[in-house]
Amino acid sequence: MSVVSDQPFDVVVVGGGVVGCAVALLLSHHRLKVALFEARNDVGAGTSKANTAILHTGFDATPGSVEARLVARGYELLRDYAPGAGIAVEPTGAVLVAWDDEQQAVLPKLAEKAAANGYVHTEIIDGNAVRELEPHLGPGATGGMVVPHEYIIDPWTTPLAFATEAVANGCELVTGFRVASARRSDDGTTELTAADGRVVRARFVVNAAGLYGDELHRAMGFDGFTVRPRRGELIVFDKFARSLLHRTLLPVPTSHTKGVLVAPTVFGNVMLGPTADDIDDKEATGSTRAGLDGLLAKGRRILPALLHEEVTAVYAGLRAATAHSDYQLSAHADAGYVCLGGIRSTGLTASMALAEEALEMLTGIGLTAARRPADELRPVHLTSLGEADDRPYQSGGSTVCHCERVTADEIVTAVTALVPAHDLDGLRRRTRAVAGRCQGFFCAAEVCALAARADGRSMQHWMGAS
Ligand SMILES: Cc1cc2nc3c(=O)[nH]c(=O)nc-3n(C[C@H](O)[C@H](O)[C@H](O)COP(=O)(O)OP(=O)(O)OC[C@H]3O[C@@H](n4cnc5c(N)ncnc54)[C@H](O)[C@@H]3O)c2cc1C
Repeated sequence: MSVVSDQPFDVVVVGGGVVGCAVALLLSHHRLKVALFEARNDVGAGTSKANTAILHTGFDATPGSVEARLVARGYELLRDYAPGAGIAVEPTGAVLVAWDDEQQAVLPKLAEKAAANGYVHTEIIDGNAVRELEPHLGPGATGGMVVPHEYIIDPWTTPLAFATEAVANGCELVTGFRVASARRSDDGTTELTAADGRVVRARFVVNAAGLYGDELHRAMGFDGFTVRPRRGELIVFDKFARSLLHRTLLPVPTSHTKGVLVAPTVFGNVMLGPTADDIDDKEATGSTRAGLDGLLAKGRRILPALLHEEVTAVYAGLRAATAHSDYQLSAHADAGYVCLGGIRSTGLTASMALAEEALEMLTGIGLTAARRPADELRPVHLTSLGEADDRPYQSGGSTVCHCERVTADEIVTAVTALVPAHDLDGLRRRTRAVAGRCQGFFCAAEVCALAARADGRSMQHWMGAS
């Protein structure tokens, strides 16, 4: 048995997605011995890397739900945190488009729902006004509702910035540690054991394990929710498509899903999706013929010209859906345990509010957390990946990925950073290298060679891990 640390941690956060990283960040601002344990070799590499990247106002959440409260709060927290940390946000706004009388009739109800959620800026407009806002929209829109504060955000830099700042402030990040079992000891600590036998002890445990949150909840001795993944497939179109729309084009949501949208991305592309299919396999992130065909059919109606543009990539993410309509948050004093479960389709937006909630629940079950003075804390500023922001290539330096205009210095920085990339996917999320229209066909070898020279690992490692 190998012990990760002789002394127990005050708090161990399990799961390095956007939620766990946000919790680790907030805890690192307190006088606590904190650790973040992640099963994969990197943070933000699960559902958090594969979403639609909308910073939601929460206008369509169920009023009075925990999710509605935390999305609204999380929106403000993340919007204000992002610029300082180098997380790209574009204030595009959105327009929800109705395509028939039935959908049109839903708009006033949605505006009322938004107001009940405290969001009073929606505006219902007729079909002509929708087309004036978005001239490339397909024919047949009967009307729409403008949601001016529905923004787009960089989903990759968000967990990375949280984790980097947490580590800069003393949080221990342990990757490649999948918590397999948990046992409460007589000394009031919990022993968490990894599949490979390594052990860590914690006075308090926070479950931010996303899709595996239900399994960890059971390992901690509790029950009450089961995660059934809801797969969302997406298509990313080339940057030439970006001029086809000004804002996110939303469908009228149903109780099952927010529906298929067309949205610009902060990286300068356009995305179409997601689907919503309940599946059983928590690792099934492949795309399907049926899913892509369905998206293309919907895209053809929403923005016909989009179908003439090149597809850059397809991907799928899995929402941690449960039988419950709300987040599954709970605190358990006897077990020194807080669960952040069932964070399905809004966790990027709500992440910083979920962190506040977790801290409140932890103090509610006995954690003493004294805030560290501001002059003791180290903020971070990562290089923005936003197409609308200044990018390093504009200040010179040799470019290695020409589609995304990534410089050699950016690659070196990404593999030598406080929270470094360990594979090509990690490099992609830190720099946009190999994410462009050639998908690494021209640059992957050079990018990997640079990474190998910078961190001493072999070229095979970098190429093989792509
Ligand atoms: C298609 C799609 C579209 C979406 N669109 C949006 C959007 O526009 N806006 C928005 O706000 N949200 C959106 N979401 C939701 C958002 O992406 C998620 O809510 C969020 O990423 C969840 O983050 P997480 O940290 O809870 O989970 P994850 O990112 O899955 O992180 C959990 C981590 O825990 C680790 N882990 C699991 N078990 C263990 C264990 N036993 N030990 C150690 N580590 C473990 C995993 O490896 C993983 O890295 C969307 C989701 C999908 C799928």
